[in-house]
Amino acid sequence: DLLVVGSANADLVIGVDRRPAAGETVLGGDLATHPGGKGANQAVAAARLGARTALLARVGDDAHGTLLLDSQRAAGVDTAGVLVGGAPTGVALITVDPSGDNSIVVSPGANGRLAPADVRAAAGLVQAARVVSAQLEIPLETVVEVVRSLAPGSRFVLNPSPPQPLPDEVLAACDPLIVNEHEAKVLLDGADPGEDPADWARLLLARGPKSVVVTLGAAGALVADGHGSESVPSVAVDAVDTTGAGDAFTAALAVRLGAGAALADAAAYAARVGAAAVTRRGAQDSYPTAGEVEAL
Ligand code: ADP
Repeated sequence: DLLVVGSANADLVIGVDRRPAAGETVLGGDLATHPGGKGANQAVAAARLGARTALLARVGDDAHGTLLLDSQRAAGVDTAGVLVGGAPTGVALITVDPSGDNSIVVSPGANGRLAPADVRAAAGLVQAARVVSAQLEIPLETVVEVVRSLAPGSRFVLNPSPPQPLPDEVLAACDPLIVNEHEAKVLLDGADPGEDPADWARLLLARGPKSVVVTLGAAGALVADGHGSESVPSVAVDAVDTTGAGDAFTAALAVRLGAGAALADAAAYAARVGAAAVTRRGAQDSYPTAGEVEAL
């Protein structure tokens, strides 16, 4: 019912006392390897909530690819659409210092080879989806092909991360476009959007999406469509690690929209899922089941 089209990365994390400067070598702690990437995260988050979920992505024919396929299958994601080969699996090399500041190098690898032709070859998967969710860690032309391949009556959800200017064709398909403050400001580059999220939403709506959701971290979210805007309260929790919270939010929103919920109701549920995700360390490891969301 839900198809996620997006990235799959291995996150390679090393804790260091100090992040290295140019030409410098520092010793760090033991390497931790985690499945990540926005597409893979969203698919796991949706499946953990109990939604029938498929992933269209590309990984390398290597150990990181196996790690990613295993984590998807363990969560119950349909991986028939995960293509293997063409380049090494995408990797994020992450160094984290004791204050929590990090330096990250991303090699998109196989994510950068997920091509429009791959979307056309997976037309059955795309046509079968009630909701299709995408991000921008894959080539933009691939996202354009997804938009062109949608079944009539299906719904397209986009988190434009990392943000870049979007063609009108993509913007017009979004229902909703889901952005945080940084993404909103990049998409509104040149418009002087100010500091009020309701203004960002209004300005973004004028670019063509059918609806907009602005996520606001601990302050919750804001939803807006042609009828007006509404704020969505956050759930007060002890935040431990916000990694992957936005992906959990987007996945939960897509799941509830697929079940027929109104946008504001879906966003309220997604805020609970995002809040649950920040109470535990990691990205995919932090995602709640439907029962855990109820208990929150
Ligand atoms: P991103 O990771 O994309 O920047 P946000 O940080 O806005 O996204 O988080 C996405 C959603 O997760 C928020 O809209 C909110 O519902 C929830 N969330 C994030 N941080 C917290 C927090 N500290 N407390 C409660 N909910 C949070």
